[in-house]
Amino acid sequence: MDKAIFMDNAATTRTDPEVLSAMIPYYQESFGSPATLYALGSEAKQAIELARQRTADLIGADQKEIFFTSGATESNNWAIRGVAEAREDKGRHIISNQAEHHSILMPLKHLQKRGWEVTLLPVDADGLVDPAAVKAAIRDDTVLISIVHANHEIGTIQPVEEIAGIAREKQVTFHVNGAQTAGHVPVDVARLGCDLFSLSAHKFYGPKGAGALWVRRGVRITPLLMGGAQEKKRRAGTHNVPGIVGLGKAAELARGNLENESRRLTDIRDYIIGRIESSMEDIRLNGHRSRRLPNNVNFSIEGIEGESIMLSLSYPTAKGARPVYISTGSACVSGTLEPSHILLALGLPAELAHGSVRISLSKESTREDAEYAVKALAEVCERLRAMSPIYKRGAKQCASGSDGRDCEAAS
Ligand SMILES: *Cc1c(COP(=O)(O)O)cnc(C)c1O
Repeated sequence: MDKAIFMDNAATTRTDPEVLSAMIPYYQESFGSPATLYALGSEAKQAIELARQRTADLIGADQKEIFFTSGATESNNWAIRGVAEAREDKGRHIISNQAEHHSILMPLKHLQKRGWEVTLLPVDADGLVDPAAVKAAIRDDTVLISIVHANHEIGTIQPVEEIAGIAREKQVTFHVNGAQTAGHVPVDVARLGCDLFSLSAHKFYGPKGAGALWVRRGVRITPLLMGGAQEKKRRAGTHNVPGIVGLGKAAELARGNLENESRRLTDIRDYIIGRIESSMEDIRLNGHRSRRLPNNVNFSIEGIEGESIMLSLSYPTAKGARPVYISTGSACVSGTLEPSHILLALGLPAELAHGSVRISLSKESTREDAEYAVKALAEVCERLRAMSPIYKRGAKQCASGSDGRDCEAAS
């Protein structure tokens, strides 16, 4: 069987071999804890401080303001809960939006149950948050705004600079979840104007379980993890030294090739979008057409389930066919086929929200692989649609007036 085509890089990426090589010594000869004072410890300490500098450089930050975490989920939970707790004296109102990642929405829900008020703004049909709506939602007791930099499912890049201007004017702390943008598009936290920024190594060819929260000097935040003096007592626990070293190396590699790689992927992305739009019917591009991550393609495909498409592509039946790994917005969450809250927030009707596929590219993605993937996708969709109980049949039956239930299913 030919080599598989992995196009689910918004979920995770393969660790770069150079990153892995940089990490291995810190499991073996230099395994010391950076908290200890003997030589083995100071080797590790130096390594994490170099990683801190490289991580800071990736996002235009001061290295003193980088705090290592286990990834974006922790960074996001920490930003929400830590700022909420630290600023409780000023108020208990937080603003975010309906299309956020669960690592933002769940901590918000947790706070809501404890008496906090949370305003979740709607997004438009392209997934954009309206800065004017953010401004209008700010109250005297608003202490935090959290908006994702780019959506992991549909790739829409939010107008965070504009929102930052509004937040600053009103003295509201502003957190940006940059899990999808760090290492993929140029990020400069000073230019973005936010106060906190989350990132995750495994989204840009680093290891899983390593990430960071950038906290601008002077921003008040209580720790999430307590019981150690690490990270200036703000994030306790023995450092994940190999992971942090890997994050630093991945940041350095990403920074070295950011503009070229983002241009290359944008070309492949637009090629895929163009081919899907010219070769398939009854589809919808999800996410903004131009304000979009270079590596993200997301389509709704009417009449079939995203999960069926995803599974058919990953287990091709034809001899010699290559598996293509993509993802769907109708993933099996807790055993039920629920369309994602993000697609629903775009206002998509249920059939379109169910039939969504996300193709997300990496530095390993080539134009040839993209051609193969689009062809495989078109073939799988044609086959599944031919078997679909709802695709195009409902419309015919509506015309003949035979079955009201099918009419509903297809409307
Ligand atoms: C992947 C991702 C996360 C979670 O990051 P982990 O490091 O896997 O915990 C959070 N937000 C967004 C937008 C992501 O893409």
